[in-house]
Amino acid sequence: MDNEPTEPRNIVLKLRDGALKRISELYASYDALQYPIVFPYGTDGYTIHLVARTATGKDGQKLTQLQYYSYHIVVREGNHIRQMRRLFQQFLVDVYSKIEAERLGFIRREQKTLLADNYGNLRDILMASDGDPRNVGQRVVLPATYTGGPRWMHERQSDAMAYVRCMGRPDFFITMTTNPKWVEVQQNLLPGQEAHDRPDIIVRVFRQKHKKLMELLKKRAFGTMRAFLYTIEYQKRGLPHAHILIWVTPEDKVKPEKIDMVISAEIPDKEQDPELHMMVMAHMIHGPCGNLNQNSPCMKDRKCSKDFPKPFLQSTEQGNDSYPKYRRLKPEDGGYTGEIKMRQQGKRVVQVVTNQWVVPYNPFLLRQFNCHINVEICSSIKSIKYITMYVTKGTDQTVFELQ
Ligand SMILES: [Zn+2]
Repeated sequence: MDNEPTEPRNIVLKLRDGALKRISELYASYDALQYPIVFPYGTDGYTIHLVARTATGKDGQKLTQLQYYSYHIVVREGNHIRQMRRLFQQFLVDVYSKIEAERLGFIRREQKTLLADNYGNLRDILMASDGDPRNVGQRVVLPATYTGGPRWMHERQSDAMAYVRCMGRPDFFITMTTNPKWVEVQQNLLPGQEAHDRPDIIVRVFRQKHKKLMELLKKRAFGTMRAFLYTIEYQKRGLPHAHILIWVTPEDKVKPEKIDMVISAEIPDKEQDPELHMMVMAHMIHGPCGNLNQNSPCMKDRKCSKDFPKPFLQSTEQGNDSYPKYRRLKPEDGGYTGEIKMRQQGKRVVQVVTNQWVVPYNPFLLRQFNCHINVEICSSIKSIKYITMYVTKGTDQTVFELQ
C-alpha cells in the first residue's frame, strides 16, 4: 500500500464463446457475476452513475461506494447477505478493497492538487522511513489525511510524544478485548450463526462498548482525566481490541498505598462474590502456559513472553520496571483459587489456578464490561516511548505471492 503504485485488479470474464474479456471493478455486473448466490437475479451492483436520494425526495449528490455497500449490509428484514457466513466475509473484504482502490486511485490522480502546498512535510516521511530517501514514495505520496498512511502515523506519533512532553508519563494503560459472548452480540445473531459469522455485529457492539468505556473514564472512573490516547486493532480472528493510555490530574495520581483499591491481580472469593469470581476466571486468567501448556501462543523459547506464572507476593510493591508488582497471596496465606477448563493432550481437564495467573484488572470495569479488560499503572518513564509506539505502531501488512 505504502508508496507503491497499485495496479488495478485484473478481472477477466470468460464469455460463452470462450473469448476472454477484461472488466473494471466498477463494472455494474461485477457483484452479480462474482456472487451469484447473493444476487440470483443478476441485479446491477454499484456504478459511478448512481445518485443518492435524500429522505426529502430531492436528488442529492453522486452515491459513493461506501454509502452503497453500507446500505447493502445494514440489518433489515429480508437482507440475506447477512446469512452467507464465509461468503459474507469475502464480500465485505472484496467491497472494502474496491472502496480503498477507488480512494487510492483518487490520491494517485490528484497528486499535484493534494500536495501542492505540502511538500515540506516530505521530511516527515524521510524520518519515518529511517532517513533513506529510496524508501520514500517515488511516484505517489499519501497525504497525512490518509488513515494508516506513513504521514498520518507520524502525526499521531508526534501527538503522543507531545502529550508525554507536556504531562509526563501516562497514568493508566488499559487494554479492552471483544467478548464474542456479549449478550448484545448473541441476541443479534440469526439462528445457527456464531459470532464470527457476523463481523458487522461484532464491530458495532465493540464500538458502543468502547464509547461507553471512554465515557466512564471521562466521568472520573480513575480521577479527573487530562488526556487520553487510544488505538484499535484487529486480532487475526477479526475481534477488535483497544489499547488506551490516560493521563489524570496531579492530585488524582494513584499513590502507591492506594494501588490495591484500583487494581487487583487476585481471584475473588467465590462464596462472597460469585459474579466477579466467574468473570475473572473467564476473562482475566493468563494462558495457562509453561508446564501446563507448552503450546500457548505466549511461549517463546519455552518461556512465557509475559512472565507468567508471576511470583506470589504478600503486598503490592512499586516496581522499578514499568509496572508495579501487585499483591498475589498464596493459597496458604488466604489467597483464593479457581478452576478453569482446558485441553491437555486432547482431553478436557479441570485445572485449579492460583493468583499467579491473574492478569491485573479493575473490578468495577470488569463488572461493567464483562470482557478481558486489563488495567495497569505506568510507574516509570522508561516504558513510555515503548507504550506510545505500541499505541501507534501502525497496521499489519503482509506481502505474499501465489504460484
Ligand atoms: Zn504465558
